[in-house]
Amino acid sequence: MNRPNSLELGRAALRDLSPYDPATERCRIDLSDNTNLWGAPPSARAAIALAESEALTRYPAPYSRALTRTLADYLGVDSNMIVVGCGSDDVLDSAIRAFGEPGARLAQLDPTFGMIRVFATLNGLSVVEIPGGDSRAAEALLGVGASVIYLCSPNNPTGELIDPASIETVVSRANGIVIVDEAYAEFAGVSSIELLARYDNLLITRTLSKAFGLAGLRIGYAAGSPAVVREVEKSRGPYKVNSLAERAATVAITDDRAWVQDKVHEALANRARFTERLLGLRLQPIESSANFVLVPVSDSRKLGLSMVRAGVAVRVLEHLTGIGDALRISIGPWPMMEECLAALEVALQ
Ligand code: PMP
Repeated sequence: MNRPNSLELGRAALRDLSPYDPATERCRIDLSDNTNLWGAPPSARAAIALAESEALTRYPAPYSRALTRTLADYLGVDSNMIVVGCGSDDVLDSAIRAFGEPGARLAQLDPTFGMIRVFATLNGLSVVEIPGGDSRAAEALLGVGASVIYLCSPNNPTGELIDPASIETVVSRANGIVIVDEAYAEFAGVSSIELLARYDNLLITRTLSKAFGLAGLRIGYAAGSPAVVREVEKSRGPYKVNSLAERAATVAITDDRAWVQDKVHEALANRARFTERLLGLRLQPIESSANFVLVPVSDSRKLGLSMVRAGVAVRVLEHLTGIGDALRISIGPWPMMEECLAALEVALQ
């Protein structure tokens, strides 16, 4: 028997990958993942509490049509233009698989959302990165010959918006699909949704994990032309959103939009106040359009560890292109931000 050892049975492309680890400590105050720190929409909590046994014993709807109709209404598009998934992670993974042949290229700016590289690799694509923040970046992305171009606006981890004219330049001239990740759109108040009326090579991904406060339910979605959405749905497969998640999300979007808006306004006010205080500590946070701020620092790992000791977790990032080390800090209710500032001040001493 000359069977290879079990490690060699795995695909070569996966061997060098490690399972995703957000590398954050469980802390009294967790400002590391940009979720809604005010809580979950009341209607969603009630829907889960009232669920009958069948919501657990029976399979969910294969493609969550009740939820897709509600999301279509929220975005003002037709319901055959929406696909949902188990988090936008699932939608992004499915979309890359649907539009990128193994061996093809995915182009993205650097730095950006780290999971895209992982999904591209898992699906056999190679990643080409273009340094972000450069006015020539759109041209450079178009020059890669990519089957998939990924843009994130507001971008994670910088919080910066990509200028709408550059997004349209990329979408209008790309030969492949362009994914615009709008996970933080509710905080930015701008969107590329209107481009869907003019371009059919565009997929805009969104999530209920951030402003909508439902990260634990794992619901993401995307809007695109009916043909694009159909390909993503095929690639995704059935039953990815469970019954409780579908139900809770549907009522939250229908009944609690005002609740969400209220929390978004509070996050924006606290972001401005927090940014002022950071400037007072002689730090230079990057101007953010999301519910977090990226703060360049000289030794992020050391500062992050010190803050954990004070009970505050933030996201530690090292060696970011064009930025260096940085801390990414989620914005929450003001007492949390005060504790964060106190921990940061001690760490900086
Ligand atoms: N896109 C961006 C830019 C993100 O920051 C995140 C979460 N960190 C996601 C997508 C994935 O979110 P989810 O799977 O919870 O929808």
